[in-house]
Amino acid sequence: MTDPDRRRRIPRTDTVLADLGDLVARQGSDLVKRAVIAAQERARAGEIAPEDVAAEARRSVSSRPSTTMKPLINATGVVLHTNIGRACLSEDAKAALLRAAGHVDVEFDTATGLRARRGRDTLAALSAAVPSAEDALVVNNGAAALVLATTALGVALGRPEVVMSRGEIVEIGDNFRLHELIASTGATIVEVGTTNRTWARDYSEAITDRTGLVLKVHPSNFVVQGFTHGVDVAELADLLRDLRERPDSPAAGVPLVVDIGSGLLRPDSLLPGEPDAATTLAAGADLVTASGDKLLGGPQAGIVLGRADLVERMRHSPLARALRVDKLTLAALEATLTGGVTPTHAALHADLDVLRRRSEALAERLQGSGVDAQVVDHVAAVGGGGAPGVVLPSVAIAVAADRAEPLRRDGIIARVRGGRCLLDLRAVAPTDDDVIHDRLRAIAAANGDVS
Ligand SMILES: *Cc1c(COP(=O)(O)O)cnc(C)c1O
Repeated sequence: MTDPDRRRRIPRTDTVLADLGDLVARQGSDLVKRAVIAAQERARAGEIAPEDVAAEARRSVSSRPSTTMKPLINATGVVLHTNIGRACLSEDAKAALLRAAGHVDVEFDTATGLRARRGRDTLAALSAAVPSAEDALVVNNGAAALVLATTALGVALGRPEVVMSRGEIVEIGDNFRLHELIASTGATIVEVGTTNRTWARDYSEAITDRTGLVLKVHPSNFVVQGFTHGVDVAELADLLRDLRERPDSPAAGVPLVVDIGSGLLRPDSLLPGEPDAATTLAAGADLVTASGDKLLGGPQAGIVLGRADLVERMRHSPLARALRVDKLTLAALEATLTGGVTPTHAALHADLDVLRRRSEALAERLQGSGVDAQVVDHVAAVGGGGAPGVVLPSVAIAVAADRAEPLRRDGIIARVRGGRCLLDLRAVAPTDDDVIHDRLRAIAAANGDVS
């Protein structure tokens, strides 16, 4: 029961707000007022002293997280996971986000005082990373790049047909079907070949004067095995070149656009089956589209690289304005391209011996804290719609399966396999090993496992 005297000593809202004038100036009166009312309630409930209402309101405003988005530790061994935000940004990219948060010369030339090309330094960094690309463009994501290409190079020119192999009519994830996206622009998909086999002549028979582009899509989340045949980029580029040279050819001006998805700019020996922008352009693609937050390890973005006239046409499409990226994305992407190693690259290329030693050290500490933990072999994956079939030999710390749920509630995402909870440190920042240790110890203590 609250003592009536105590209730009388709780200061009035206006009085506390006046005391917290500096906080109100910085944070706004609405936020501070809500905190004061909450603190008064706590005082009424006897949780804090009436004299502490102002201090409690100040504390709760100051310690409030800037976003309710919960940071997670990815101990699944799946390096890129769309549901938890795909790539983690590099330190350089994080710093770039902060720098770009204020006013910046994203579209302004301080030397002349005139407007400048938006994101020019990011585009220059992309061109430097892929010198064979004549020009580059950045849009909101990989899907936006496809929508823009289909619209600007096809539908807007009165050539609404997009020629695609049946085997590449793919679903990328969670109800995202590529052909439906393309059809939403008003384009018509002309499917060629069959699910398992497509030949060059299938393409040449389908190209008419209504064809806007030939689209090749990397089926980035599955592999087809057995009686299969596909037409690779080089063969398709040769075919289009031959067709273009024929008099009155309907293929004149039909570009080959390749959606490589994963965003590798150059080949990576770890991922031999994964297409990259430089190789794909060298093989004859006119344009390449890719995501920024998959294997490139940057912010969400759609990257377009290739022939200058095509990129220019996309840039001048009215739709480009709706799909353009923010200064924050441009800054983070530039830093990803020019800065240090990305967490994605570090996780994929982690040395197995180093990973094993690190896991053993953590398992030993856990055992010392009374947590039953062993290091076991594990198989990690690229994830995020990249490199299907690529296995990354890895190790994991195995603990009791019933730890997975409390860990998850604490923001540590592990896997349950074979009746055990497995924590793979491959995609975990080394500085987070302590957090994993402390949470597992606390869960064991709460369970009464440790004295
Ligand atoms: C991931 C992916 C996309 C979609 O890219 P977002 O950046 O997620 O929009 C498109 N095509 C392929 C082949 C992909 O792998």
